[in-house]
Amino acid sequence: MIVLGIESTAHTFGVGIVDDKGKILADQRIQHRPKEGGIRPRDAAQMMSEHGAEIVKRALEEAKITMNDVDAIAFAIGPGLGPCLRTGAIVARFLAKKYNKPLVGVNHCIAHIEVGKLVQNLKDPLVVYLSGANTQIIALANGRYRIFGETLDIGLGNLLDSWGRAVGIPFPAGPKIEELARNDKKFIPLPYTVKGSDLAFSGLYTAAKRAAEKNRIEDVAYSLQEVAFSMVAEVAERALAHTEKKEVLLVGGVAANRRLQEIIKTMAEDHDASFHVVPMKYAADNGVMIAWTGLLMFKAGNTTPIDAPVNPKFRTDQVDVLWI
Ligand code: AMP
Ligand code: MG
Repeated sequence: MIVLGIESTAHTFGVGIVDDKGKILADQRIQHRPKEGGIRPRDAAQMMSEHGAEIVKRALEEAKITMNDVDAIAFAIGPGLGPCLRTGAIVARFLAKKYNKPLVGVNHCIAHIEVGKLVQNLKDPLVVYLSGANTQIIALANGRYRIFGETLDIGLGNLLDSWGRAVGIPFPAGPKIEELARNDKKFIPLPYTVKGSDLAFSGLYTAAKRAAEKNRIEDVAYSLQEVAFSMVAEVAERALAHTEKKEVLLVGGVAANRRLQEIIKTMAEDHDASFHVVPMKYAADNGVMIAWTGLLMFKAGNTTPIDAPVNPKFRTDQVDVLWI
């Protein structure tokens, strides 16, 4: 069985092709890169509609197959930016209709989890999902990926990117903040907001923005990371103690951060859980994760009607996980 998957929730248009052994046959991507500021959804969608067909073609060439060899078309149905989601969905519906293939709408967050499990060979991890828009602590319980803690306002990556923008660091600011934070270690107290098993970043953002007006930028970058990552570690630890999972998986773009990895690894090992990070290639948004999750869903009997609308607010815990 072969599934072609299309990712288009934010800045990346990706097409992946996988088979039922978990072999990755193709992985083609193109990214919207704003000249300044954050993602512009309509510009991103425009780029996707201009280059979408070409990326599909390149993926088929890479896999050395034709559309006739494909058993199903998967696409990211949400969550994400409306214009981007709709563009990917149009490409998927077109392919499904033209080549008479079943369609599978995939939850983007779940795809991050499933591809992480595939490449790290995991069974049942507690997932710490930290991306631009999303910050969730997730674990499988009673047939769904349940959210054991999440941000009440902005995502962790968004916090870093917004603060970066405020102090003149271009998008995406995460890597540069990590580099700045490594050089200096004077801690400036900043607000730490954990509410039960959830967290919030906007107070921290405002305080860190103000702190940058009268402190060295390296000190603020360091303190911002320490406070934000400690908040994540606290809610992740609470979920780990509760679920008693034996594996911890870090996914999403922010997972690239070495300091964050160190903090979550220490926390996991304190609870005798093994620690895993998705390799950066698959931590970033990509079509492979959509193809693989689509394949698991399709094998379990899931398909999506051709006229199903995209869902920009689709939650991780709304999907019945029939494939596990
Ligand atoms: P995603 O939304 O999963 O594509 O991830 C993108 C986010 O990851 C952006 O907010 C980036 O700033 C962030 N990011 C990438 N690399 C790093 C890093 N080394 N440290 C912290 N954040 C990072
Ligand atoms: Mg993502």
